[in-house]
Amino acid sequence: MRLYDTARQSVVAFEPGPVVTMYSCGITPYDSAHMGHVQVYLTFDLLQRRLRDAGHETKLVRNVTDVDDDILRRARELGVHYLDLAAEEMARFDSSMQVMGLLPVYREPRATSAIPEILSMVGAVLDGGHAYESGGSVYFDVSSFATFGQVSHLSRAEMLVLAAERGGKPDDPNKRDPLDFVLWQPSAADEPAWQSRWGPGRPGWHIECSALAMRELGETIDLHGGGRDLIFPHHECETAQSESVTGKTFCRHWFHVGMVGLDGTKMSKSLGNLVFVGDLLKEWEPMAIRLALLEHHYRADWEWQDAGLERAAERLERWRAAGDGDAGIEQVRRALDDDLDAPGALDALDQAAATGAGMSQGAALLGVSL
Ligand SMILES: [Zn+2]
Repeated sequence: MRLYDTARQSVVAFEPGPVVTMYSCGITPYDSAHMGHVQVYLTFDLLQRRLRDAGHETKLVRNVTDVDDDILRRARELGVHYLDLAAEEMARFDSSMQVMGLLPVYREPRATSAIPEILSMVGAVLDGGHAYESGGSVYFDVSSFATFGQVSHLSRAEMLVLAAERGGKPDDPNKRDPLDFVLWQPSAADEPAWQSRWGPGRPGWHIECSALAMRELGETIDLHGGGRDLIFPHHECETAQSESVTGKTFCRHWFHVGMVGLDGTKMSKSLGNLVFVGDLLKEWEPMAIRLALLEHHYRADWEWQDAGLERAAERLERWRAAGDGDAGIEQVRRALDDDLDAPGALDALDQAAATGAGMSQGAALLGVSL
């Protein structure tokens, strides 16, 4: 199989061993899942299905960020406990993913389950000379890590812009360098706090994924990714803190999914331009929604349009009329092995269905049950 690797900036061979360890950054459960999220998790699902089809065992971990600025703010606004909010949204998310036909993940650990691992990792980064304490927080010192930028290949100026846009707080006066990032921070009066050698506090944004990936899958993982907006700062920072502790490669292959837009701009909670999977499921068959997403290559940025659902529903009918059989399945495998070319796989099955050949097995490989 060949897949695009963000760090190597090209399509390269992805040749893991019999057991494939994968980690996908998961949701912060404070609001409903939108189609941008679903596209990411569906892409990981497709990859997992093809790897299993090829005889691999897969271990896909998807974390749940159940403590961060967003969930604490939302819980405050709603007047509920942040973990109650997390439990409610996680149940909603898991049921949507199940209805959409996603295979269960190997583990779905919560950030709050990893506080001991996070504390020991922050201690190790600090003791190794890659972090410093300032103003009650512990910051990673990017000047101590020569290969900072190895995942994103961004210039310092580009990093500064993205850090400001994506919660990296480059203006924090306690930092030595605006690109330094928080590993541990004091909690505000009404926020949850855990005891630590730096006083009561809570984790920074990036540390949970390093701690959880290493706890669940080991110090080096085969493949890690998420939405493309996580490349910087999130995945760059994960790599720096992980490798500064272990001295080993953190992730062998970086896998990122394009952004789904609406009305000309990326779908995001902060902009409010969202299409929620829960709303679509009230009107459309889950398999039609799945097909509407598979129409787009995972690396493409694209605009959500309801017309895509109409096309998908028609395709589903054509495929159902063709019925049981394995026509086109080898072409589907070849397409998926070529950088997970889902649109190519759809074409192959369309051609099979057009000749009246049963192609349900090829559809099943895409997670589409007819
Ligand atoms: Zn993450």
